[in-house]
Amino acid sequence: FRVLALESSADDTCAAIVDASRRVWSNVVVSQNKIHRLTGGIQPMVALLAHQRKMPSAVRRALTDAKLEMADIDGVAFTRGPGLPGCLSVCLNAAKTLAAAHNKPLVGVHHMQAHALTPNLTRDTPLPFPYLSLLVSGGHTMIVLVQSHVDFRVLCNTVDRSIGSTIDRVVTLLDIPWAANGPGPGLEKFCATSAAEDSDASKYDPPIPMPGKLAFSYAGLHSWVERTVAAAGGLEHINKLAVARAFQTAAFKQLQVKLQLVLRTHGHAVRHVVVSGGVASNAELRHRLKTSIRGPIEFVFPEPALCTGMLLDFVLSTPSISPPIDNAAMIAWASMHRFLAEDHDDYDIDPVPTWSLDDLRNPPPPKVQ
Ligand code: ATP
Ligand code: FE
Repeated sequence: FRVLALESSADDTCAAIVDASRRVWSNVVVSQNKIHRLTGGIQPMVALLAHQRKMPSAVRRALTDAKLEMADIDGVAFTRGPGLPGCLSVCLNAAKTLAAAHNKPLVGVHHMQAHALTPNLTRDTPLPFPYLSLLVSGGHTMIVLVQSHVDFRVLCNTVDRSIGSTIDRVVTLLDIPWAANGPGPGLEKFCATSAAEDSDASKYDPPIPMPGKLAFSYAGLHSWVERTVAAAGGLEHINKLAVARAFQTAAFKQLQVKLQLVLRTHGHAVRHVVVSGGVASNAELRHRLKTSIRGPIEFVFPEPALCTGMLLDFVLSTPSISPPIDNAAMIAWASMHRFLAEDHDDYDIDPVPTWSLDDLRNPPPPKVQ
């Protein structure tokens, strides 16, 4: 069974073809990083227009790369939510129209479910359920118990903003240069420079919020950076490396501490912790988790390069950078069990911009504005 999947929930326009035997026929990612670098972050309207502009060529490219045509496709999948409403409408409408025109079955996918199931696309041996998934991305910071393809329990969630969006804001606040693949990798590179060794990050020690509670919070850490800069009288008066390093350490330490808390109650039931989402590509985070949490738990970090995403906007200028984590191959893979069970969606399906993994089977009805 061969699925063409489309994804446009945030800032990448993606199309991919994957089959039930886990072969990735093509995986196209058109990154909007260049555009959003100019505006200092994702502007919903700018992102929507870019998706509208790029989706048709992404679809064409996915078919051409795979040397396939629509007649060779058995089903069409798309990201139904959560995400920016306008952005979601692009992959939703493109997928619905393609499926209807070619008389193919249609499946809408939960973006975070796709992140959580990605390891079973990339690993040779599938992960046994249940496992824990630490999702750390631009929109989410949560620990989820994955009991099956469709049974998820959110055990720890953020009460305010996500770690990724906090990283992006702090990069802007501290005026840290972006890397070619975005602000997060820019922070990682900045903190890893050799001068960081003597940057004296240890003199700052922002507290871990809500100790003992199963909840993340990143608003306080963001305002800690703001206060530190303001108290010193501006950016030019602080040791930027020290502050950036202290911020990064505190952000990751919080993930570690809350994960340890979850493992106290669920550690006996699970053998694997999957760390996914854009922030999971940070080597410092990987190192911290692997060295601080030992025992029978094995960490699984899905390949950042999840196969062979083609970055159309980047291939010409910077061919060596690793592709981003968001892609449509994971959406195709997350839809597969439903296609195989012939559990399809109607062509008049609505997007679900706000959608908890706990409500996967019963998404909330669309809000009438
Ligand atoms: P979501 O998946 O929740 O809808 P998203 O698609 O925006 O959100 P991802 O693409 O999974 O999220 O992740 C993007 C986030 O990851 C950004 O905030 C980015 O700065 C951060 N990020 C990417 N690489 C790194 C890195 N090496 N270190 C730290 N943060 C990173
Ligand atoms: Fe994502």
